[in-house]
Amino acid sequence: MILAQAVFKIRNRKIYVTELLSWGVLNESKDIISGEDYENILSSYIGPHVAKEFSKLVDGEEEQIHFNATINKKSGEIMLLSVFGYQVISEDGVEVFGIISDDKEANNQLMMALKELSDIKYALDQSVILAITNRQGKIIHANNRFSEISGYSNEELIGNTHQLINSGYHSRDFFKKMWQTIGRGGVWNGEIRNRAKDGSFYWVDTTIVPVKNEKGKPVQYIAMRHDITDKKENQEKIRMMAFYDHLTGLKNRRKFDENLIKKIEYAEKNAEKFGIMFVDLDGFKYVNDTLGHIIGDELLIAVARRLEEIVGKNGVVARLSGDEFAILIDFITAPRDMQHYAESIITNFKEPFAIEGYQLSTTASIGISTYPEAGSDAPTMMKHADLAMYRVKGLSKNDYRFFDREMRISNQRAFQIKNDLRIGLDNNQFYLVYQPKVAPDKEIVTSYEALIRWEHPKFRRVSPGEFIPLAEELGMINEIGDWVLENVCRQLRSWKTKGYDLLPVSINLSSSQFLQADFVDKFWAVLHTYQVEPAWIQIEITESLFIDNEKYVQQILKIMKENGIKIALDDFGTGYSSLAYLQKLDLDILKIDRSLISGISNLSTKRKIATTIVQLGKSMGMEVVAEGIETKEELDILRSHGIDEIQGYYYSKPLAITEMSEVLKTGKPGK
Ligand code: C2E
Ligand code: MG
Ligand code: MG
Repeated sequence: MILAQAVFKIRNRKIYVTELLSWGVLNESKDIISGEDYENILSSYIGPHVAKEFSKLVDGEEEQIHFNATINKKSGEIMLLSVFGYQVISEDGVEVFGIISDDKEANNQLMMALKELSDIKYALDQSVILAITNRQGKIIHANNRFSEISGYSNEELIGNTHQLINSGYHSRDFFKKMWQTIGRGGVWNGEIRNRAKDGSFYWVDTTIVPVKNEKGKPVQYIAMRHDITDKKENQEKIRMMAFYDHLTGLKNRRKFDENLIKKIEYAEKNAEKFGIMFVDLDGFKYVNDTLGHIIGDELLIAVARRLEEIVGKNGVVARLSGDEFAILIDFITAPRDMQHYAESIITNFKEPFAIEGYQLSTTASIGISTYPEAGSDAPTMMKHADLAMYRVKGLSKNDYRFFDREMRISNQRAFQIKNDLRIGLDNNQFYLVYQPKVAPDKEIVTSYEALIRWEHPKFRRVSPGEFIPLAEELGMINEIGDWVLENVCRQLRSWKTKGYDLLPVSINLSSSQFLQADFVDKFWAVLHTYQVEPAWIQIEITESLFIDNEKYVQQILKIMKENGIKIALDDFGTGYSSLAYLQKLDLDILKIDRSLISGISNLSTKRKIATTIVQLGKSMGMEVVAEGIETKEELDILRSHGIDEIQGYYYSKPLAITEMSEVLKTGKPGK
């Protein structure tokens, strides 16, 4: 039996036979039919009822139709036809596609296939990019959307294969599989990246439905696509986010790890050497804190670009976190080759970074580990580069160092300290000492500072300078801070009960402690518990607290002050003091850092700076305290400039409770 089948399109009420597969149905040359009024053609060749059904599509009453019809052939034979039509709305108006065939099965399959599309309506609405090809893949119909998205005119598309828009993205295998599926008569669905005429790429979700002949062999393919470029771009972004650092565009830690693991496998197989470097910026926090995150971010981007430039094609640069970068150098002949890269970085960084009008100088601390010397697996190599970097940080900074065995030991200390903080807190290994502050003219103690101490079972005395930053890193500083406040208050209560005349004691607050949402409540609750008067307590904060939180901090400070707590700004002069803050903040006490004091007796510029700060602070109505006075000369200089209080070994080291009790009794520093 000859299959009777016709595929046609109706546009502007005219019928176009796009391909006449077999002329059994209409029994006429397609050229005679094409361009004629569809109603006439369909009525006269098949029957008025068929024309009427198609009118529903043309008039937009229906979106698709599917029905059976009979036709009386000249031979007297009655033929049962399956009719399928659907409507596509484009800017030019309604286009209607029709398939009429006597192969009910084939038509059903087509229907089913279309139904399989999750949303037929969606697939058939105006967003559909439609193409019909012949068996050889030549395009015999393309709708406007196809022209629009591809940039090719209808004329350019017709007669061409999809090779025209092939982007080269997919493998041959990909298309081979597609052809296998549709060649067998199956429906294929997949996502394809195509290239438009202007060279740009677009993604389409594609469903190809074969139209089959009587033997079930596909003779045409209907490809329905819709634009998923946005979705793909988003996916790409997500992919980028998973493996790339959004700020600098460098690879992230995950991607770096992945590269490193592959590199190790390769190097092992080929007996090659390579190296990695951890590059940590020195004083980056300082830039962030003083100039803000935007400038900080710009600096990180600039650093990323320079590192990429230095490494070039010889390796990979990644940003691991904050101001920490990692570099993998693909191939070295000996560990010393890494030295070349490290030195290039250090030299290169001597040139300041020009960012938004600032000339920012930053240096880098670099730790290096080489394969196979520093480890034969990724975590070990990473750990060792990190260790070497930390060693540089702990020493001179602005330098590089290779991992060596001895490093492991010192890092074990930081590791163990972090580990032991909790046990230390639970087992009462912490205690407080108190360092008097002295009014130098009368040489009497006017206040004192509470300083935490830790008696570690193994390391003996661990200085707060060492463990406070580690506690901050661990997020344990709040607990430690709570412990300090509570113990100071308990001590005050105890002294008070014993009849001592109390002097104000200052307590150091870490920024994160101060920024806890319930800080103020907790603070007053403790004072209340021990019946401590606000006048007995001062708090010491540092400038880093104001960065990014200025308004909030100001508010909290206001509450504290209104309730009678004096506020001291600690460590003033440690590199990035801003007079702007001083003016804005209504602070009571200014503590000049030891680094600004030591040497004032010998260095006249230093003396000038220190004494100017004293005067400035006083002119702003603050009490000014000098920290770390060790010599009579230092004392005399500051005294002559009207310093209010002196804190330093010259008068007194931090004291244990019994000694401090004595000081409270006599009012004398004991010197
Ligand atoms: P800071 O608040 O600036 O404390 C002053 C530091 O200078 C203390 O060191 C003190 O012992 C030391 N010092 C005082 N006079 C002299 C001197 O004449 N010469 C020398 N060389 N040093 C002197 P310490 O106790 O080791 O504390 C270091 C830092 O640890 C403190 O600096 C403070 O930032 C932090 N810290 C100490 N206790 C606490 C605490 O309870 N909580 C918090 N958050 N931080 C604390
Ligand atoms: Mg302090
Ligand atoms: Mg200080």
